[in-house]
Amino acid sequence: AHVAGKVEWNGVGVLRDGLRVKVLGNVGSPADAVAAAAGGAEGVGLFRTEFCFLSAADEPSVDEQRAAYAAVLAPFAGKPVVVRTLDAGADKPLPFLNPDPEPNPALGVRGLRVAFDRPDVLERQLQAIALAAADSGAEVSVMAPMVATAAEAAWFAERARAAGIARAGVMVEIPAAALAAREILEVVDFVSIGTNDLAQYTFAADRQVGAVAALNDPWQPALLRLIAQVGEAGTAAGKPVGVCGEAAADPLLACVLIGLGVTSLSMNHTALAGVGAKLAATSFDLCQLAARGALAAPDPASAKLAARAVLN
Ligand code: PEP
Ligand code: MG
Repeated sequence: AHVAGKVEWNGVGVLRDGLRVKVLGNVGSPADAVAAAAGGAEGVGLFRTEFCFLSAADEPSVDEQRAAYAAVLAPFAGKPVVVRTLDAGADKPLPFLNPDPEPNPALGVRGLRVAFDRPDVLERQLQAIALAAADSGAEVSVMAPMVATAAEAAWFAERARAAGIARAGVMVEIPAAALAAREILEVVDFVSIGTNDLAQYTFAADRQVGAVAALNDPWQPALLRLIAQVGEAGTAAGKPVGVCGEAAADPLLACVLIGLGVTSLSMNHTALAGVGAKLAATSFDLCQLAARGALAAPDPASAKLAARAVLN
């Protein structure tokens, strides 16, 4: 059993009524991966590959990337791992990819946008990921950050398939992508909602500025309504919809997300047991009821109260 605080959890994400929900870890280093596996993660929902190279002056070679990725994948042989391609720029600049200052880095060339200018860098990374997947035996899929349109998603999925990676998805962290979720899900195998950036861009509130932190509250009903659109699109398409932002780490909000149509939750290892235990105590009907209450609330505090009234 995995223990966080006073709650215990058996390491399998399942609701009280038997519905399976994947409870996954967010990782960026071999130490994170070990901690996630020890904490009961059923796999990895977000491997932030840029964390491996934050201080690299030059692009790491395919062999260097392969070794760095395989070290993170090692504890998850036979388990699903979503490897995110480099999310360079804004709060995570990489010297070899983001050399020029921009007036608004969060709105500039970051994430997949870097790859449109440098497809060769993406192709080498995908090659290294495919090799590391074979080295480790993990069931690897790849996911692109900062995708705005279905055309961008298709562009990425085509390159992932060319690299021999069977499953490709994209993050939904720009409001336009949430609004186009139906079209995006026609060209990829899954999506994963990054609530940190989705909140930042929905509320035009910098995630690094404390003065606007209240706007970036993941309980904001406007944010939940966007997530609901993505959940509905995923249900209609029969394709997985994950959440890998901070919202997934709040046990009460995790239940609301499931009620909105989300099928997997990925979080820091410290949150796994708390979320797993809360899901195990809840049915899908109650998640949906809590989600309906939160969606209709006028503000974050009321949304949380509405969910708590249903789920305790
Ligand atoms: C997010 O934006 O919610 C996310 C998970 O990605 P990151 O925090 O790495 O930008
Ligand atoms: Mg993000």
